[in-house]
Amino acid sequence: MERFTSFVIQELGLQPGTGDTPTNYAAGTDRYALYKAGPVLAVSHGIGIPSLSVVFNEILKLVHYAKCTDVTFFRIGTCGGVGLEPGTVVLTEKAVDGAFQPFLSTTILGKKVQRPAYVEKPLLEELLSCSENTDDFKTVTGTTMCTDDFYEGQARLDGAFCDYDEDDKMKFLNNVKAKGVCNIEMESLGFLAMCNHAGVPGAVACVTLLDRLKGDFVSTDFSLLKSWQHRAQKLVLRFIKRRITQQNRHKNG
Ligand code: URA
Repeated sequence: MERFTSFVIQELGLQPGTGDTPTNYAAGTDRYALYKAGPVLAVSHGIGIPSLSVVFNEILKLVHYAKCTDVTFFRIGTCGGVGLEPGTVVLTEKAVDGAFQPFLSTTILGKKVQRPAYVEKPLLEELLSCSENTDDFKTVTGTTMCTDDFYEGQARLDGAFCDYDEDDKMKFLNNVKAKGVCNIEMESLGFLAMCNHAGVPGAVACVTLLDRLKGDFVSTDFSLLKSWQHRAQKLVLRFIKRRITQQNRHKNG
């Protein structure tokens, strides 16, 4: 979040404020990191939907009480690709759970509640249009599978537990691909379900760290991984810059 915020400061031509590094406003909580640069609030959400849901509720209340307008939420992260070149950026069209259900299934007052998780088409198209021909990576759109677990939930053979074999794993992953899933991660379903339920526009941009049809283990060089993570950030920042330009034009008539 700190590196992303420095990138926002640089790209939007903002004053960095006091000190060499941006301020983490949530430093006292140990729960997440929270930075602000101009109109951009950047928050870490931890791993998985339970962690994300707590932060999401708190940020939603924050932007409400702060009377923020024209808010768009993004999850920027990493994922496993399904049949994609590692380093590809995937923009989620809709999220499904580990059993291909296209909604978040959660329990409220002891009852199961289902909430759909999709990205509004105009927002998806606007974000996709921020990719450029000169980019040294591909940006694609597709369905994202969101699981409750990194290992068994994503058909890995290298966790502490594994009650299936390579054949079972490949059958599952080939089925995942056949059903139009482009990538697998652990937050999109909760994130989009909450955006949809709140009526707040939201999108998910994740870079693939590996091709799950070819393996389980992320073996790419660490500095290359870091540069790949920058790709989804770059795309979202282009979107933010465009929106700021449009808003300024609107303000200035
Ligand atoms: N995050 C995930 O959830 N899965 C991967 O394979 C990579 C990143």
